[in-house]
Amino acid sequence: MRRAFKVEVQPTPTQLKALLQHAGNARWAYNWGLAQHQAAHAAWVAEGKPAKWDGWRTAIDLHKDLNALKKADPENGGVPWMYEASKCAPQEALRDLDRAFKNFLEGRAKYPRFKSKSRGIGGFQLTGTIQVAQKTVQLPRIGRLRVKPGDHGYLPWGRHSAVCVTERAGRWFVSIVGPQIADAANKGLPAVGLDLGVARLATLSDGTVIENPKALAAGRRKLDRLQREVARKKKISSNRRKARTKVAKAYARVAKVRSDALHKATTTLAKSHGRIVIEDLRVKNMTAGGGKKKRGLNRVLLDASLGEFRRQLEYKGKLYGCEVVAVAAQYTSQRCSLCGHTDRGNRPSQAGFCCLSCGFEINADLNAAINILVAGSCPETENACGAGVRRGGPRVTSQPAVKQESAVAR
Ligand SMILES: [Zn+2]
Repeated sequence: MRRAFKVEVQPTPTQLKALLQHAGNARWAYNWGLAQHQAAHAAWVAEGKPAKWDGWRTAIDLHKDLNALKKADPENGGVPWMYEASKCAPQEALRDLDRAFKNFLEGRAKYPRFKSKSRGIGGFQLTGTIQVAQKTVQLPRIGRLRVKPGDHGYLPWGRHSAVCVTERAGRWFVSIVGPQIADAANKGLPAVGLDLGVARLATLSDGTVIENPKALAAGRRKLDRLQREVARKKKISSNRRKARTKVAKAYARVAKVRSDALHKATTTLAKSHGRIVIEDLRVKNMTAGGGKKKRGLNRVLLDASLGEFRRQLEYKGKLYGCEVVAVAAQYTSQRCSLCGHTDRGNRPSQAGFCCLSCGFEINADLNAAINILVAGSCPETENACGAGVRRGGPRVTSQPAVKQESAVAR
């Protein structure tokens, strides 16, 4: 496995200008290439989507054309200003575009969109000699960037050949892929089921609750207020632009606080368990497709962090020897974890669960976490598991003791 490491950098005004220029070139090349891909795609569709078609242009073809454009006069559509920055930035952007369009054609992604500066400066990639030291990172054409003090020494030291630079709400980040590392062996630690939520970050099937950081709620309130302020400002005015910058900063902070909490939680979880069962978000979304979807900031954050939680758990699992399983657990919030009775009426309130069939009372999130653990413990019935099927042997052996206790206690 290879890990990527990301740190914040503090560019000087000259470096900032160079960073913006590189990002601008990358964005320009991407949009320029996308326009040509779109034209090619339209022509291909007009010809009835032939299986063999030689109208597609690769990133290499496009880069050759771009080089010709760099030499041309600005009056004839030339872009000589591209010479002022590294050729890698537009080159890598065209490779990205290649991938984006391939993903679209093969049904993995949506039709690629043009990159707009108003949606963020974005970033760029560079190849060449990148030198990492304790407090600095040296990039071709840009120079030696200072790493933010809190991030000193985090990047893998020495020489690297590729780097990714990104901007977010006025801050700049550098990310580098580290050396190959071997997966850790499973140490036979206990298994656990996990239910992620909005009110609580996560509930474990053994009864442990991971709370959300308090700063998160305050950050969200501030974000809501700033968003209302944007709505009150006149459209296309500098006051609106300023207000939008504030929103972007507040949003970046909320995301950062949440990400920090996610990292701490996933590290602890991966270090102390041998197997972690989580819900498969993709499947959950598909099953929820017909019904009304709750939208809004909370929902968006939850969706985003479910994917991120899984990504972090998976790579940290490999680092610390923990197996991560995602299950298609449907009705986890409506099914009784004691008798298996599935009913919408089992949920008298948001937090409470009371089974209509056997009267079992339990916290709703804990009930869901136990259901998820059970779903991940019977691989031979993986698909049927979530659909309210009667469950036999594996459930008893995998059931944590705490559930029985809580049944007695209540
Ligand atoms: Zn029940």
